[in-house]
Amino acid sequence: MVEITRRAAFAGAALSMAAAPVTKAFAFAPQAATQAPGFYRYKVGDIEMTTVNDGVSAMPIEDGFVRNVPKAEVNAFLESTFRAPNIYSGPYNPVLINNGRQLALVDTGTGEGALKSSNGLNGRLLMNLAAAGIDPASIDLVILSHYHGDHMNGLIRADNSIAFPNAEILVPEVEHKFWMDDGEMSRAATPRVEATFKNARRVMTADVRKRVRTYAWGQELMSGVTATATPGHTPGHTSHVVSSGNKTLYLQAVVTHAPFLFARNPGWHFMLDVDPVAAEATRRNVYDMLAAERMMVQGFHYPFPAVGHVEKTATGYREDIVQWSPVL
Ligand SMILES: [Zn+2]
Repeated sequence: MVEITRRAAFAGAALSMAAAPVTKAFAFAPQAATQAPGFYRYKVGDIEMTTVNDGVSAMPIEDGFVRNVPKAEVNAFLESTFRAPNIYSGPYNPVLINNGRQLALVDTGTGEGALKSSNGLNGRLLMNLAAAGIDPASIDLVILSHYHGDHMNGLIRADNSIAFPNAEILVPEVEHKFWMDDGEMSRAATPRVEATFKNARRVMTADVRKRVRTYAWGQELMSGVTATATPGHTPGHTSHVVSSGNKTLYLQAVVTHAPFLFARNPGWHFMLDVDPVAAEATRRNVYDMLAAERMMVQGFHYPFPAVGHVEKTATGYREDIVQWSPVL
């Protein structure tokens, strides 16, 4: 067996560089300095899915980021997954569903206005839709999972005009009722929750409201796509089951936030879970099912392309993201 030590690896690299002969001049190719567009297609039976990335967050990790775990422990866990401490880079991944008759967009990202305020880190959905060849006017249905800004802000553009002018906007009825209720807003437990109430009202412009239709848990929203109750993250938080033939995909929205933290630690209570105890119960139920059924799962905050499987471990669950496929 050849043993590769750190010292031997570097020594080898130095040797091969020193030995490389300079035999020709190279054409000058400028560095690209921009990322490739973020969209990825796959099939669930006859249904075509397209993950359309909206970017990532950059949230400072403060005390209370995970309510029941000290900041130092969260940072140590992040570092154990080869990620930098102190900053939470949570992915945002809306998804298109094309069942051959209708085109739906599930969740809308942080909104075009965020592109500038985040210095390009997020607010990229419309750019990536364009790169994928999708005209926003061709989207028939926008389906929301819940009313957090990173899921609903993309309903409107930076100038507050409607982003998907021909789409009906399907929203979970429990969620809509909660966040639009002035009494609930007056009882908001924290400034953060109060801000969510205010943001929902900002995004629900007259133009948006005209297109809104509420849906119930258990309802089929388009052929092959059924809403399912996953409350806790928010009171009306909803996931969607996509089925075609003998294939099933579970669109989990935010049953876990990024899985490298919250699937691996299902008992961690993320600061944005409105009811963290209910969120944990939902998470364990759904993930036990996903692991037992070996069911494909797509997560809004999963690393791009945000689709994979989960398995049970001694301490929680572990995600396994799909391999890029060059053909559908
Ligand atoms: Zn959320």
